[in-house]
Amino acid sequence: MSEKAAKLVLADIMSRNLITVSEDEGLAAIAGKMAAKEIGAVVVVGKKSEVTGILTERDLAFKVVASGMSPQDLTVAAVMTPGPKCLSTQTSIAEAFQLTQAGKFRHIPVVDDGKLVGIVSARDINRAFYDERELVNEMKTKFIAITSHELRTPYTIIKGYLDMLSEGMWGEFNEQQKSALAKVMGNITRVEKILSGLERFYLSASQHFQERFAPVSIGEVIEETVRDVEFFLEKRKQNLRLDIEAEIPPVSVVKNEVKQVVFNILINAIRFTEDGGNITIRAKDQKDGVCVVIEDDGIGIPPEKLDAIFESFYEVQDAMSHTSGTIEFKSGGMGLGLAIAKKIVDSYGGKISVESKEREYSRFLFTLPRNKPPAG
Ligand code: ADP
Repeated sequence: MSEKAAKLVLADIMSRNLITVSEDEGLAAIAGKMAAKEIGAVVVVGKKSEVTGILTERDLAFKVVASGMSPQDLTVAAVMTPGPKCLSTQTSIAEAFQLTQAGKFRHIPVVDDGKLVGIVSARDINRAFYDERELVNEMKTKFIAITSHELRTPYTIIKGYLDMLSEGMWGEFNEQQKSALAKVMGNITRVEKILSGLERFYLSASQHFQERFAPVSIGEVIEETVRDVEFFLEKRKQNLRLDIEAEIPPVSVVKNEVKQVVFNILINAIRFTEDGGNITIRAKDQKDGVCVVIEDDGIGIPPEKLDAIFESFYEVQDAMSHTSGTIEFKSGGMGLGLAIAKKIVDSYGGKISVESKEREYSRFLFTLPRNKPPAG
């Protein structure tokens, strides 16, 4: 239970609008009153206003029939449930929930210092309890979505640099350094597993977190992303060309989300293009929004696989043909990168697509509508 839910007590949810009756009142009039006001129970009180019983719709329906008598001839005392369980105004929702779970109490008088002040139903208690739980679940989903989003890019960059270090790109290590690096590598693999688990959760959850929207320059997003991967490009001796139109109006987005779209497509372009290959990123203003095209002259994608490429866990080559590195030629992830990219673009009401010819090129295009509020 959240802190807020734990603080809720019956006084917060009970109904103060209750009807009290005495034991010697005739049933017919009371049944009429309950039906007219659509209430499920009345509290029976004694001379000193103490609670002596509770009379529910069920008592009226079943006990009256079972008695074989007419309601005209019966008093409250004949069918009420005597000595009902009463709870205090300060009873917590959690405690009340536990009590009602057994299914024994459907309507519970609420007392303050022995004085009747309200009534609460098991339904009210359940609703308060579950509402809080749903709220907590929502917060959990949001937290996981944000965490996995924010961690994926730095993770990939860290892993890329570690790969380069362990290959001796910047000099050989002594035995101690090698052993330390092996430990780091082992643990970064664990981080990848955790991240993938979180991302799977994010993809299955429907929520899209909508805060932090701001006018963002797509050119800036592209340039920042390129700076993050420039060492990888250098290592693979690939050429990157940027062709960004000068006057592109800003789009209203969560910057890191769009950065992740560019990053996921760009890192694939690096992975699936031979050493020394070419990658081009273009951005232009179009009628339907801002359009980004990321193109490479790498291995390409077979036409029959193009439709499935944005599905979760889809990899064109079988996993065995992937190399183990992060940015090596044909190295692969979990088959989630493009699924995440599509989810983000879709959430802005944009479009993402791919065109390709095997062994010639892959061209990923996405558009983001200008200032259109994202879908939920
Ligand atoms: P992963 O995280 O495993 O790379 P993605 O969803 O990013 O998964 O990509 C799915 C698959 O699409 C990749 O495994 C690869 O087979 C193929 N793919 C993606 N981008 C390209 C590209 N630029 N060139 C060739 N194949 C690509």
